[in-house]
Amino acid sequence: TPLARRVAAIPKAQYGGRHAVTMLPGSGIGPELMNYVKEVFRYAGVPVDFEEVQMDPKSESNEDLEYALTSIRRNGVALKGNIETGSMSRGVLSRNVALRNELDLYINVLHCKSYPGVTARQKDIDIIIVRQNTEGEYAMLEHESVSGVVESMKVVTSENSERVARYAFEYAKKNGRKKVTTIHKANIMKLSDGLFLETSRKIASDYPDIEHNDMIIDNCCMQLVSKPHQFDVMIMTNLYGTIVSNVVCGLVGGAGLLSGKNYGDHYAIFEPGTRNTGTAIAGKNIANPVAMLNAAVDMLEHLGHHYHANMIHTAIDRTINEDHIHTPDLGGQATSIDVVQNIIKYLQETTKTSNW
Ligand code: ATP
Repeated sequence: TPLARRVAAIPKAQYGGRHAVTMLPGSGIGPELMNYVKEVFRYAGVPVDFEEVQMDPKSESNEDLEYALTSIRRNGVALKGNIETGSMSRGVLSRNVALRNELDLYINVLHCKSYPGVTARQKDIDIIIVRQNTEGEYAMLEHESVSGVVESMKVVTSENSERVARYAFEYAKKNGRKKVTTIHKANIMKLSDGLFLETSRKIASDYPDIEHNDMIIDNCCMQLVSKPHQFDVMIMTNLYGTIVSNVVCGLVGGAGLLSGKNYGDHYAIFEPGTRNTGTAIAGKNIANPVAMLNAAVDMLEHLGHHYHANMIHTAIDRTINEDHIHTPDLGGQATSIDVVQNIIKYLQETTKTSNW
């Protein structure tokens, strides 16, 4: 059945159980966050070798994009910062969108879970956002039909709508989740969002034990701010997905905490959940390293390195929830390096007490 298949294939480890992973540092705070990941991996003894690919935001060709794609196709997995696309020339694609489309990473998953140690607008949030990641309003099919008139096409296919709904219901089933909510605007976009909604209803009928409901995107935004605990697993098209993800990240403590996973049948890319470049805070030792470190933990889970994933995950949680070492985005005064050093302190304690 299509259900039994795991979403992204897991690459085989190389000699000595090590994995090669593509690292795309991207722009803004991306490179410094990647340095923290490398540092943390070194102290934890993680058996991963990074293949770093730099993307040039000023590039007028797609050569660097091709190089990144070749590397990810070889390794199967990438860790990624946000990549700026400086050139507005036609034919130079948004690197972020092009990577997802070329690798057919049709699903984005964001697990929005509150950190008890972070003072945020809402407590005890635990929402899974499953977002269509390759089509919808991100189809990049825009043109100026006559001067001053631009048309932009939103593409919704039953195949992709089905893959997203199937993933969400399977996730709910495997993880003991009770409810899936489809977010849409089918009252206005009757054909495109209508197809997305109808498809999710059809898939829902295969899962009688999981409640399914739907909600219009505008009401959803209001409900998220006022009564977010009604949501469990949510599915939505691409543009609603980026907006809702940012709303929920804002509710639990901002852009610096949560990670996002991009899956297709063959490849997976891990990155911070809200995909920000952070140009204004780059190089100041104030960016929160947690979102990228969480993305690195997701990557380790995906590769089956559960021991190391758990070790780093625990060190992050203790740093944030028990020690309250918080960067300014969380209302604290710690630097990025303070957070990383505290995490490393726990890693050193763990590796010292283990018998190998
Ligand atoms: P730009 O390309 O201009 O940087 P963007 O859409 O990528 O824009 P940002 O402005 O980078 O968005 O990010 C949105 C907000 O989130 C900013 O206030 C930024 O400082 C903050 N932010 C993003 N990532 C982090 C982080 N890791 N730590 C702290 N703050 C962050």
